[in-house]
Amino acid sequence: MQNFDVCVIGAGASGALASILLAEKGLKVCIVDKFDKPAKKLLVTGNGRCNITNKNMSSSFYNQNIDDFLHVFDYQDTMKLFKKFGLEIYFDDEGRAYPISNSAKTVQHVLINQINKLKIDFFGETTVKDIDCKNDKYLIKTDKLDILAKKVIMACGVNVFSQNILKKFDIKYNKILPSLVALKTKQNTKKLDGIRVSNVLVKAKIGDKEKIEIGEILFKEHGLSGICIFNISSIFAKNKRFEGKISVNLLKNYSKFQIFDLISSKVNIFENVQSLLESLFASQLSKEILTRSNIPLEKSSKSLSKQEIECLVENITDMKFDVVDCYDNNQVFSGGVDLFCLTQSLESKNQKDMYFCGELCDVDGVCGGYNLQWAWTSAFVVANNIIEKEIYKNKKIVNLV
Ligand SMILES: Cc1cc2nc3c(=O)[nH]c(=O)nc-3n(C[C@H](O)[C@H](O)[C@H](O)COP(=O)(O)OP(=O)(O)OC[C@H]3O[C@@H](n4cnc5c(N)ncnc54)[C@H](O)[C@@H]3O)c2cc1C
Repeated sequence: MQNFDVCVIGAGASGALASILLAEKGLKVCIVDKFDKPAKKLLVTGNGRCNITNKNMSSSFYNQNIDDFLHVFDYQDTMKLFKKFGLEIYFDDEGRAYPISNSAKTVQHVLINQINKLKIDFFGETTVKDIDCKNDKYLIKTDKLDILAKKVIMACGVNVFSQNILKKFDIKYNKILPSLVALKTKQNTKKLDGIRVSNVLVKAKIGDKEKIEIGEILFKEHGLSGICIFNISSIFAKNKRFEGKISVNLLKNYSKFQIFDLISSKVNIFENVQSLLESLFASQLSKEILTRSNIPLEKSSKSLSKQEIECLVENITDMKFDVVDCYDNNQVFSGGVDLFCLTQSLESKNQKDMYFCGELCDVDGVCGGYNLQWAWTSAFVVANNIIEKEIYKNKKIVNLV
């Protein structure tokens, strides 16, 4: 049996950072993870580039008001901290932050470097099976060893194990659903599979809630994907059902009148309507617009009636889809531990010395570095609180970074 001040379950983004901050202050910390190396999940983030945070940071990018936490640790603190760890970061035009190597491996590398430097005990390829609480200590049972710790940090994301622990310790959590995910639609999109359209406006309406996103969409065999759709998916996750309607405006920079004029101006240039539409859209997408408008592909452009042009305009600016489900490629989960069950330090209100970080909390943001920022922020909040309690005996500290 090994003894620690703190046992961190999960060496992902939040767990790795929490353990580093605690060990820097001299606490005896261990991290347990199924993977052989810490921060392994980071490697798939940001398409392998790891979008570490975002300059445009506020609660409006999240499903929850997390301003109180962002006041403690926001994107600038993330920048400072990672700079201290030796990572160079740049911002793109939309405020997204990436390592200058453009490789997520570099982010993993600097975190592992700190973990090794601080000689943090990392139990890799080890799965936590259960947690017991006895005599004010936690017994963490894994498939390889038992660990005894004064405090436990749950940084293991959403899975069957974490949900079992929440049930066991009677910690309320909100329904868990995939978010930032591609959407399946009733309409058959097989022929459009692989087509990307940028600068579109996507609108989702569920009851009285509406969400609008501008960006790129990618047609898939059974529906729609792309950052725009990922962000739109969060409204369905929030509504706890992947059912509803979305509308895509394929030419958002033009008014309906302008599109009408644009099509009218081309009737003498292109012989048939399909060829006319192909001057604006990919071939399969042109066919889709014509099919939806009930216009034969080979119809002569010159013979288009006013009503038919209006119908085309309608399908271009308001291409309707019925969402019936989601894919299983979600980047995050919505739902998780209800923040009302946690203190401002993210400690369980009814289970002393049990803390929660990262995705396991009911906090999820849109694409753009927001979910990792929550991982860093929550890790800092938890570590800061444990340090205040254990080292400074409840005296407030302000300058940990
Ligand atoms: C494809 C993809 C791309 C993404 N891109 C971005 C991006 O660019 N920017 C962004 O902000 N967010 C991105 N995200 C979201 C981001 O990765 C997560 O929000 C973040 O990693 C959550 O951190 P975490 O510490 O809560 O959990 P995780 O990073 O998921 O770590 C949890 C760890 O716990 C371990 N674990 C779980 N159960 C056990 C157990 N029983 N025993 C032992 N170990 C266990 C796991 O092995 C894992 O290492 C992306 C997600 C995906 C899937």
